[in-house]
Amino acid sequence: MRQKIVAGNWKMNLGYNEGLSIFSEVINMVNDEVTGAQTAIVCCPYTYLHSLAQLVKGHSQISVGAQNCHQEEAGAFTGEISAKMIRSVGAQYVILGHSERRQYFGEKNELLAKKTDVVLGNSLKPIFCIGETMEERENDRFFELIKTQLSEGLFHLTDTQFAQVVVAYEPVWAIGTGKTASAAQAQEIHAFIRQEIAAKYGQETADDTTILYGGSCNTKNAKELFSQADIDGGLIGGASLKSRDFVDIIKAF
Ligand code: PEP
Repeated sequence: MRQKIVAGNWKMNLGYNEGLSIFSEVINMVNDEVTGAQTAIVCCPYTYLHSLAQLVKGHSQISVGAQNCHQEEAGAFTGEISAKMIRSVGAQYVILGHSERRQYFGEKNELLAKKTDVVLGNSLKPIFCIGETMEERENDRFFELIKTQLSEGLFHLTDTQFAQVVVAYEPVWAIGTGKTASAAQAQEIHAFIRQEIAAKYGQETADDTTILYGGSCNTKNAKELFSQADIDGGLIGGASLKSRDFVDIIKAF
């Protein structure tokens, strides 16, 4: 059975005290209100990782993740953060290939493949983001694009490595815009992603892979999205900054 996950991406938001207080509220609400086996992950700024990881000790339903990492193990890369550093402060996940990293920092599939290797090599799990722009959707190029993002970013992995990966389908046009893919649009792509994984790694691996939807997912649309056969949860930006909304989205399963 694949894992159900709701992951929050705080991006470059929230001060330290505010972040800790929201995270504490999330822990308490999850403990009191969430009964299923789903996992909640909060991907916070690097400088908060250690504190959040300390708070989450003993709470098996909640994990902490980073939003990026450098592709090299270590070395003269002033200002960068390695996967090993992220692991050493108690995080378990790293978002890779978010569309904002692709768009504003020029991250390409080849670089993301290297980041995936270094993340897995340090016993972290990648939440690997893929998705098309509106132009690519309108030009009917999105299936081809998704296929390339998967094959160039992830399909060099061995079966054992791939089993650690969480895939997040995030149509770029839906991120932070308030426009959500319809449940049918999202399901269509999720089924396609699973089919591509099955073609490469076999049906069993594909059936066990968690595929998240991201893009203006909120308390109103989460239930319908999460009820689709191939949608195993969400990657949540804006709505993860409010503890009540984030936990209500977790409860939408
Ligand atoms: C995201 O940044 O991954 C995201 C899905 O953002 P939002 O939920 O705000 O659209």
